[in-house]
Amino acid sequence: MPVDTSQPYDDSNIFARILRGEIPAAKVYEDDWALAFNDIAPQAPTHVLVIPKGAYVCWDDFAAQASDAEIAGYVRAIGIVARQLGVDTPGYRLLANCGLDSHQEVPHLHVHLFAGRKLGHMLVPE
Ligand code: AMP
Repeated sequence: MPVDTSQPYDDSNIFARILRGEIPAAKVYEDDWALAFNDIAPQAPTHVLVIPKGAYVCWDDFAAQASDAEIAGYVRAIGIVARQLGVDTPGYRLLANCGLDSHQEVPHLHVHLFAGRKLGHMLVPE
């Protein structure tokens, strides 16, 4: 079910539960600001989700509400994950779905990191 981002943060969402340790995840990186784990239904040989530790629904929510330290920590973590995975060469794609039209399914901000094959050209044409 796509996320309606006009709704407030729902603390029972699956990524909030992963952050609280209530359900397992295949973690690839963690620091004070971010957690990265393998997507449960990978769409590329490398498909990692990087989430901030704070309670934010999507990117614009995060940009408006998060502290400078949270924003810097999260953005840096995404870059660290890319390098630790060794995908900075030959390359990778970052994607953040936000809201109904993007078909965001989990209402906790996450960036998808895809790598490990040729990823094609941007969006699938209509
Ligand atoms: P989005 O459509 O951008 O909200 O993507 C949500 C992603 O979360 C999808 O790629 C799912 O496969 C992934 N996902 C859902 N539940 C889990 C889980 N428990 N562990 C890892 N990834 C998950």
